[in-house]
Amino acid sequence: MTMVNLVRFFVCGKQLDSLTAVFRTIRHYHFNSSQTSKIPDPFASVHSAGRNIVAVFWDLDNKPPRSVSPFDAAIRLKKAAESFGAVRYKIAYANQHSFDYVPPVIRVHRRDRKALNQLENKGIVKPVDPYICRVCGRKFYNNEKLINHFKQIHESEHKKRVSQIESAKGSQRVKLVGKYSMKMEKYNNAARDILTPKVGYGLGDELKRAGYWVSVVSNKPQAADVALRNHMVDMMDRRQMECLILVSDDSDFVEVLKEARLRCLKTVVVGDSNDGALKRVSDAAFSWQEIIMGKAKKEAVSVVGRWKDSDILRRLEWTYNYERERKLYGSCSEDDDQNDDLNVTNITTDEIKMDQSRAWWKLDSDSDDAASF
Ligand SMILES: [Zn+2]
Repeated sequence: MTMVNLVRFFVCGKQLDSLTAVFRTIRHYHFNSSQTSKIPDPFASVHSAGRNIVAVFWDLDNKPPRSVSPFDAAIRLKKAAESFGAVRYKIAYANQHSFDYVPPVIRVHRRDRKALNQLENKGIVKPVDPYICRVCGRKFYNNEKLINHFKQIHESEHKKRVSQIESAKGSQRVKLVGKYSMKMEKYNNAARDILTPKVGYGLGDELKRAGYWVSVVSNKPQAADVALRNHMVDMMDRRQMECLILVSDDSDFVEVLKEARLRCLKTVVVGDSNDGALKRVSDAAFSWQEIIMGKAKKEAVSVVGRWKDSDILRRLEWTYNYERERKLYGSCSEDDDQNDDLNVTNITTDEIKMDQSRAWWKLDSDSDDAASF
């Protein structure tokens, strides 16, 4: 009995010893890990590089959406921009002319529609499928009847809601906006297809609907360019973006793109001239067609890859290892509560692996420091 107890005690004692040793090791590494994370710069820059905040600047005077609807174009541009990072700013500038302008395609479409309406009114043609009111679902076999219905019922309802909201204040206003938001969105979506925009082809409203910040400048030549350029520089000064996407092929923007590169921003140009001056001073360039066709999105992957390969490669290695390191430490502390022999062995092996990789980083960072001095 005593012998067995003694043996047990001995075994336990040995186990305790090894456990203490392991805990000591863990504490030692935890201490070291907190030291590692005190080296702030690599991690900070990695996190900002990971976010890569994108700002889109759209020179509408120079590159208005032509082949597809403004809303569609705006959404496709946004999608392409998203492959470069987190798109936080979408800014569009144009003078009043651009907003008043109606593209030939749309003018032709409107003329055809008018002719068809007249034929329908005379009873000469009847559409195969009825026109459906997208607010209430009523069916019409005459487009003008649908338009009249829409104006008489839904447009007047919409106006009442808008004036109700406009006359309300404070919390009452917030309440009304919430109450009507669904109905108003439904109306706006339907109105876009049924009613002819009062100004141009609805460029401004459509871009706003797609989430763009739209600004109208005076009709003086270059007014939009100047405003756009100032906006870009202002945002650079405030360090609000890491990647600048400019939609234009106007060579007046060469200087501002050079400035952006000097400030280590990534630059992407969307424009159509093949040997454009802007393309020469930007990191990547796409034609408007490539954006519309969705090709830019795929190519963006390799562009982003190139960026990673160049100036931030070293830092990215840091993140990669940092993540791995954190995962390994995370598993250590989770296992602390439920330590048994198996876990102890696992931890020890991991610690050894980690120790090797640590030595490698240390060497790496040391040589970096040496290089930078
Ligand atoms: Zn209706």
